[in-house]
Amino acid sequence: MSSGAAPLDVCVVGSGPNGLAAALVLARAGLRVEVFEGAESPGGGCRTQALTLPGFHHDVCSTIQSMLPLSPFFADVDLERFGVRLRTPDIAFAHPLDGGRVAVVAGSVQRTAQGLGVDGAAYTRLMEPLVRHSAQLVPNVLAPMRALPRSPWTMGRFALAGVPSATRLARRFSSDEAKALWAGVCSHAMLPLDAPVTAAFGIFLTITAHVGGWPVVEGGSARLVEGLVAALAEVDATVHTDRWIRSMDDLPEARATLFDTSPETLLAVAGNRLSPRYRRELARFRYGPGTCKVDWALSGPVPWTAPECRRAGTVHVGGSFHEVAGAEADVAAGRHAERPYCLVVQAGIVDPTRAPEGESTLWAYCHVPNGSNVDMTSRIEAQIERFAPGFKDLILARSTITAQQSASHNPNYVGGDINGGAGTLRQTIFRPTTRWNPYRTGTDGLYLCSASTPPGGGVHGMCGAGAAKAVLDDLGIARAT
Ligand SMILES: Cc1cc2nc3c(=O)[nH]c(=O)nc-3n(C[C@H](O)[C@H](O)[C@H](O)COP(=O)(O)OP(=O)(O)OC[C@H]3O[C@@H](n4cnc5c(N)ncnc54)[C@H](O)[C@@H]3O)c2cc1C
Repeated sequence: MSSGAAPLDVCVVGSGPNGLAAALVLARAGLRVEVFEGAESPGGGCRTQALTLPGFHHDVCSTIQSMLPLSPFFADVDLERFGVRLRTPDIAFAHPLDGGRVAVVAGSVQRTAQGLGVDGAAYTRLMEPLVRHSAQLVPNVLAPMRALPRSPWTMGRFALAGVPSATRLARRFSSDEAKALWAGVCSHAMLPLDAPVTAAFGIFLTITAHVGGWPVVEGGSARLVEGLVAALAEVDATVHTDRWIRSMDDLPEARATLFDTSPETLLAVAGNRLSPRYRRELARFRYGPGTCKVDWALSGPVPWTAPECRRAGTVHVGGSFHEVAGAEADVAAGRHAERPYCLVVQAGIVDPTRAPEGESTLWAYCHVPNGSNVDMTSRIEAQIERFAPGFKDLILARSTITAQQSASHNPNYVGGDINGGAGTLRQTIFRPTTRWNPYRTGTDGLYLCSASTPPGGGVHGMCGAGAAKAVLDDLGIARAT
């Protein structure tokens, strides 16, 4: 297809945070860039919609922008100038237990350690050196693991603690509260808690909680995308919507085409241009479990028994370490947990603009086997009710999306996997394939830039920024950094 105008330098397929990040880096380097998004609005995992009742604004996917304050890509985007305001809860995340007990991560390592009682010293020993050196550590973690670390000592310390499993990590602690805290945060890995690197997910997310808090974007995550689209407009880059790309013939000629898509979509759209070896490697890429997500419109804030939960942006619901580990093991074995681990997000505690006065929005998801079409609403609501009696009485309306349905809304969520591929040890190092540069496909001019490349899932833009650097190197264009 010909655009009719001067030839394009770059096409980006998909406008998730990584597609937009790639487009911005390349457009700021002086290239002519156009983005092609299939959905009717840009943003991928950063969209805000009226899913329930008028006046309630729900994030369809991401809300907690834990990586944003630490991302080297976002450090170069003056978000405030583009109207993006972050709101940070006092408590980043809380983990309630029966009987009103709770563990929280809030503010500094010292403040959190004080709340952990007998486990405070062990917590400080683990976290303090990593948080102190986070400026060196974070860029290494948000980059391909094959790159040489800028700070080998800090990376070594992180690897020693993180490569083992969450189960091993929890053995450093003695109280139910501290053990459960690690179960909740390590379960973001979407792996059984005795799997290698599950500790690394939890430790890294906890570092982000101490360094940047776990903020939300005022008005919803779509505001972040509006900011990025405005930044793109400043450098004359265009974002087209309602343009599903099914073959390379759907795209204008360009010097480079970047896919903010799943490896499956790259194969479907451009498979005939890829080498047989790369096609085989991509076909071996493994996806993780899916999620079943529920959004609620509530007549008031959630009545958590533990008051700390009322000040936390994220509440990890699922009970003790043993219970959470059991639920995640069920999912890994292809079963639906009776009492699932639920990740509950309450943006309204810092952002009242999302609901009419006095009312609030809430969302929660639990993990389910990849491709599941099981509606987990009643099991999720029962888990929240367990730690917040009276919660169900507040429900004005709800909207549920199963794993299979989320895959049909966004093809990047293959089988409902929201992280763009399983976070196994192998796929932490070799993501998506064993190629030295994970963004190049081996075919000139074709690149992958989605969460299926390093550093993986989350709103950080670093997959897109990494791919953009490969494009600039290949085109012989000098980079500012
Ligand atoms: C329910 C849920 C909750 C989440 N919560 C958080 C959170 O709180 N914090 C966090 O950091 N992360 C969260 N995430 C993960 C985060 O949203 C993703 O990791 C992130 O959006 C990945 O960005 P991406 O650019 O790689 O892909 P995506 O954001 O998925 O964007 C890909 C885009 O490409 C488009 N596309 C795909 N194929 C084509 C095609 N053939 N033609 C045209 N367009 C195409 C899609 O429509 C989509 O818009 C959550 C995800 C989900 C689903």
